[in-house]
Amino acid sequence: MRIVVTGGAGFIGSHLTDALIGQGHKVVVIDNFITGSRKNLEHHEGSDQLMIVEHDITKPVYLAEKIDRIYHLASPASPIDYQKLPIQTLKVGALGTHNVLGMAKHHNARILLASTSEVYGDPEIHPQKEDYWGHVNPVGPRGCYDESKRFAEAIVVAYRDYHKVDTRIIRIFNTYGPRMRLNDGRVVPAFVSQILKNEDITIFGEGLQTRSFCYVSDLVRGIMGVMECNYKNPINLGNPSEITIKEFADKIISISGAQRKMVYCPLPVDDPQRRKPDISLAMSILNWQPVVSLEEGLKLTIEWAGKNV
Ligand code: NAD
Ligand code: UDP
Repeated sequence: MRIVVTGGAGFIGSHLTDALIGQGHKVVVIDNFITGSRKNLEHHEGSDQLMIVEHDITKPVYLAEKIDRIYHLASPASPIDYQKLPIQTLKVGALGTHNVLGMAKHHNARILLASTSEVYGDPEIHPQKEDYWGHVNPVGPRGCYDESKRFAEAIVVAYRDYHKVDTRIIRIFNTYGPRMRLNDGRVVPAFVSQILKNEDITIFGEGLQTRSFCYVSDLVRGIMGVMECNYKNPINLGNPSEITIKEFADKIISISGAQRKMVYCPLPVDDPQRRKPDISLAMSILNWQPVVSLEEGLKLTIEWAGKNV
């Protein structure tokens, strides 16, 4: 197939591109490198299976050759990135998603939107199931990202129902692995880089907030499974094993064998207190669940980061 990946030069997008190329597909990456990098795809240089189009997807783009699938991942994703780029974030969720839906309609291609657990906001239901509508502050510091993705889901459903475009929606929970930018502010690269640079570990708040971390290879397998399944409503993808940030810091310190001090910093405004996906839908529809343990995934990430600090 000929497959478009928007945001294909980013962390998840580049791993997805690797997997699609590995299956023999031709991939067209559309990326403006605002938070991604060509370096994430340099190992495909010279391959006729990959074409990179440098383009801001908030502006229309027309591809002449027939497209079969579109994975729409373009968007700043880390809290530091989207708070620095609030307008670009809102535009890529709204105008960017509109443009790729137009492309899907034109080519009669199936399109998958990468949405997020942030549509649930600071959730009052635990664990989060797909039928939960969320608890989002539209005017808080996370509003630009959360509402961008909520709008994106809404316009995908509108194109599905009105124009009969073949759509899929995934809600990704915290995912980590090699190629995350070590300074993107997210907790995994932050702690990994602090370990490697001999710095204190920065715990926000008391570290009692929880997250559930999914290794990127598990996620990519899930994303491709959703694209090829017949279910058209949102599906959660993530690892349901929940851990507090303090426990996570303890774990990464013990895995690395390093001695590090923890320092406590103010908790960011609207930081979700608990997050854990209910993945029973993905398990029943795709027979999918994560298989990489946090220990294993962190070792691989630390090993990669050690070569890239
Ligand atoms: P990332 O920042 O590494 O990748 C995003 C990519 O999109 C980058 O290459 C960036 O340059 C590109 N991009 C952004 N705006 C663009 C635009 N206007 N035009 C073209 N390209 C643009 O982030 P990631 O972690 O790989 O996230 C990928 C997707 O998955 C995002 O949509 C994000 O919202 C979603 N997601 C990620 C996580 C996670 O834990 N990593 C969790 C939930 C959702
Ligand atoms: N966090 C932390 N120290 C850091 C970076 C993040 O304690 O140096 C916390 C943050 O407050 C949040 C959790 O780790 O509760 C996950 O943050 P991240 O930015 O990775 O993503 P989020 O899930 O909040 O979008």
